[in-house]
Amino acid sequence: MLQRLRGHEVWRERLRTAPEAIRSEQDLSDVPLTLKEDLRAAQAETIPDRPLGAFQLVGAGELVQFASSSGTTGAPVFFGLTANDLRRWTAGIGNAYRTAGVAPGARVAHTTGMAIVAGGLPYADGIRAAGGGLAWIGGQTSSRMTMSMQRLQLNVLVGTASFVPHFARRCEEELGVPATDLSVRTIIAGGEPGAGVPHIRQGMLDAWGATRVSEFMGLGDVLPAMWAECHVGNGMHFTAAPDVMVELVDPVTLEHVPWEQGATGEAVYTTLTREASAVVRFRSRDQFVVTGTRCACGRTAPTVRCVGRTDDMLIYKAMNVYPTAIRDVVLDVASDVLTGSMRIRKETAQQVRFDDPLPLQAELRDGTGADGAADVLAAAEEAVRASLRVRIRIEPVPVGVIPIGEYKNALVYVEGS
Ligand SMILES: [Zn+2]
Repeated sequence: MLQRLRGHEVWRERLRTAPEAIRSEQDLSDVPLTLKEDLRAAQAETIPDRPLGAFQLVGAGELVQFASSSGTTGAPVFFGLTANDLRRWTAGIGNAYRTAGVAPGARVAHTTGMAIVAGGLPYADGIRAAGGGLAWIGGQTSSRMTMSMQRLQLNVLVGTASFVPHFARRCEEELGVPATDLSVRTIIAGGEPGAGVPHIRQGMLDAWGATRVSEFMGLGDVLPAMWAECHVGNGMHFTAAPDVMVELVDPVTLEHVPWEQGATGEAVYTTLTREASAVVRFRSRDQFVVTGTRCACGRTAPTVRCVGRTDDMLIYKAMNVYPTAIRDVVLDVASDVLTGSMRIRKETAQQVRFDDPLPLQAELRDGTGADGAADVLAAAEEAVRASLRVRIRIEPVPVGVIPIGEYKNALVYVEGS
């Protein structure tokens, strides 16, 4: 694979220190990391017949599909697939869906409305490859989406961690029956960290009367589904071998972190089979904790939880903190009064440092007033101070103030945006 990349200008210099063949992650230690910004910058200028920019490795005539990132953290980046890439993606994403609980007999609600994103058409292909019956209900009015849930008796729901409970409320509003009366028993939630957090997980199970939540994730830059949770429910297995090599590195020192229980690090990916837009040592910015190295399901790949994005990290008076960590502590204390939807307000997109308590907007459950919740929220602020050494100020808001998209919701937002 590297031999082929060395023939392209954009990779030649980067791979100068790489050995002829990669046998282990150690062989890659000296190869520079590839950043999302590198891919984005390469697409900033228009090159004739190279719609994907300098990282496009095949002729435009070989591209059979285009896909893009969601653009949650900047301008979207576009990817291309050759016919062979499309086959490998479909098989690889199908493998992840099988791990997450899709099998023949599953009637799967696919809720994203955007076909071009990595979690759009590629997920639809993967759901069918896993043997599931695809019902792509996203992108319609909520009345049509909810009616499809009922009429087709869909029993697997694929959506983001924040959309899943929101959609349960819409079903009840539109159909006049609680979502628990519908047929959903398995929820496959990804696109953002959250499905691994016990309170958020339980909230999804309760909202739908489901029996299983499978956390799920991947990256369009690499493969849109690389991690999926088995029925044991102790974290996500890596499902993307042999198409992708994954390394775990310390996000500050960039040293390798061993795959041992309790270890934390950022996932770095190298595509091994991708033709149109390959990446070597791509920094995902996803921070993982290893939850186990042996699983009762028999799979030998370690299990992980995604605990946040390394570029979401904030600094409160020299203490590093992830918004996801704050959310977890707040929900530990206050899940009786909060839905779990919350976000930290920044003054500018670039703001990382805070000297005053972090302003945290948090959504109250229906029927809960701000006055009634005040004591519990004060206790949550205190719990965050005690366990993370970070001060926050919770601003309770009713349902509807914090926007919930079908695709990737951010845990930080900029004032006035
Ligand atoms: Zn397992």
